[in-house]
Amino acid sequence: MQKLVERINRDGVIKPGGVLKVDSFLNHQIDPELSYEMAKEIYSLYSNENVDKILTIEASGIGLAVMTGHLFGCPVVFAKKTMSANISDNVYCVEVYSFTKKTTKQVIVSKEYIKPGERILLVDDFLAMGSALQGLKSIVEQAGASVVGAAIAIEKAFQPGGEKLRNEGMRIESLARIKSMSDDSIEFYED
Ligand code: 5GP
Repeated sequence: MQKLVERINRDGVIKPGGVLKVDSFLNHQIDPELSYEMAKEIYSLYSNENVDKILTIEASGIGLAVMTGHLFGCPVVFAKKTMSANISDNVYCVEVYSFTKKTTKQVIVSKEYIKPGERILLVDDFLAMGSALQGLKSIVEQAGASVVGAAIAIEKAFQPGGEKLRNEGMRIESLARIKSMSDDSIEFYED
């Protein structure tokens, strides 16, 4: 998506270790116009899929997920990060390793909010190693629901998550796909 690529080139900050900071428009301050454009793109990609619900993970996927849910006219659920104590029977639970924070956290979704047979679209801000998407997929499967696909704002395609999950059969649509990142420049795939 050209507008997103331009914005990353203009305002993205490359950090050591393959981390891209986009705090000025996506991860801390949010540009609603750009988010809305991204949501429209996601809607056009998945509008034929009879999406019942959108699932994301807190916190930085929530803004884009809500915009997207508004266009689909469906609820948006976010997996909550939690300490491992007090996990109840009423939640689906999975461990997710954070590439940026280098920690493993349990994430939970109440059984009330994902039901068997529902068609779920996963939405997130970044795709890197694939742990977040893998975790969300596991929650959907635990619920007896199905993943129609994933919509990602920025895929760092030089990291293995996207390829691994596509090979496992998940449809993944990324609005910007980064081919490589050096200290001072970012190369994108054209598609
Ligand atoms: P994965 O689980 O695919 O390794 O990483 C996806 C999650 O980690 C996203 O939810 C995102 O919050 C975070 N993440 C991964 N790489 C980056 C990055 O380069 N920049 C930012 N801002 N977040 C990232």
